[in-house]
Amino acid sequence: IATMRCDRAWVEISLAALAHNIRQLKHLLSSRTQLMAVVKADAYGHGAVMVAETVLQAGASWLGVATVPEGIELREAGITAPILILGATHTPEQIKAIAHWQLQPTLCNFKQALVFAETLTAMQSEVLPVHLKLDTGMSRLGPPWQQAVEFVQLIARLPNLKIASIYSHLATAESPDQTILRQQQRNFEQAIAQIKDAKLPFQNEQTQPALHLANSAATLTAQDLHYDMVRVGLAMYGLYPAWHLSPIDLKPVMQVKARITQVKTIPAGTGVSYGHKFMSDRPIQLAVVGIGYADGVPRNLSNQMTVLLRGQRVPQIGAITMDQLMLDVSAIADVQEGEVVTLLGEDGTEKISADDWATQLNTISWEILCSFKHRLPRVAI
Ligand code: PLP
Repeated sequence: IATMRCDRAWVEISLAALAHNIRQLKHLLSSRTQLMAVVKADAYGHGAVMVAETVLQAGASWLGVATVPEGIELREAGITAPILILGATHTPEQIKAIAHWQLQPTLCNFKQALVFAETLTAMQSEVLPVHLKLDTGMSRLGPPWQQAVEFVQLIARLPNLKIASIYSHLATAESPDQTILRQQQRNFEQAIAQIKDAKLPFQNEQTQPALHLANSAATLTAQDLHYDMVRVGLAMYGLYPAWHLSPIDLKPVMQVKARITQVKTIPAGTGVSYGHKFMSDRPIQLAVVGIGYADGVPRNLSNQMTVLLRGQRVPQIGAITMDQLMLDVSAIADVQEGEVVTLLGEDGTEKISADDWATQLNTISWEILCSFKHRLPRVAI
């Protein structure tokens, strides 16, 4: 199977681009601020283990995942860096696995904190570092920020739990209008001030909980939101959360490529693919490519996308099928079976980005990156 990896279609991951992006991001951070690389969802589709290893070497010091199995995958690969689980975990099984694999959970409500304390006591576990999530305006995980003091008081009283950080997540950091972003900042800072005023016993300790709020967009534009750590996903994969947010030079890490499996001429008036949604109005040199919607190429791009072949854009024609799609390669001389086409990435001076697809599909580049399926091997270059 290994030798067949690039016979049909694959995802190329540039580890050099990834390391470059981490170094660029680090330039934005003061020495006080740590960089958490968000590698949830298989590192946004790039391959969690190889991404984690590369970013830790390039200067990230924390990893963020969404689920316990995502954390275990990294530990099983031998990664020892601190790993924060950004999602909610509740069950005793999850809690036992967190303690066993030395993962660090997010606590986001009172009941969950009690279940953690009970389960850890029953296990006679050592003290577990936990991270408190406050809702400052995203309306996702965490108690409302107004309950921050009560939440911290409860957790500070529980045995086996040590508050390693207090954090929140931004809802609109990509927007040029910073009104909501700044409101979330005020809410976060007010909650932290109230916690300080409450003079809880742990505040005499040497190490205080770290504070973090920024995602990629806030990391790129709002240095006053960096606090002790930033949690960066999209930007480290080389994409900008919005066009106006480009203070540094990022390089896309992912390229998607596939091979031409058959080339033939079809006469004028020939229907192509399911539903004959494309009809040739002249003889066409048609190329079949071994990649389809089961690999993650959105079927909604049928008849609307171009791919790169020998540095030129060629149109895709007819419905994209499960495992294959067709191209009109009439403009290029003597196309051969086995030639490689680029669906996302660069070829010569031409480039197709996840942003281009996102715009066409009325979605966001985050979703495009996450859409490529596991049957496409991730090949490090
Ligand atoms: N922090 C949390 C809690 C997240 O859920 C995410 C991703 O959704 C991130 C940080 C990273 O966001 P981005 O990819 O915009 O940098």
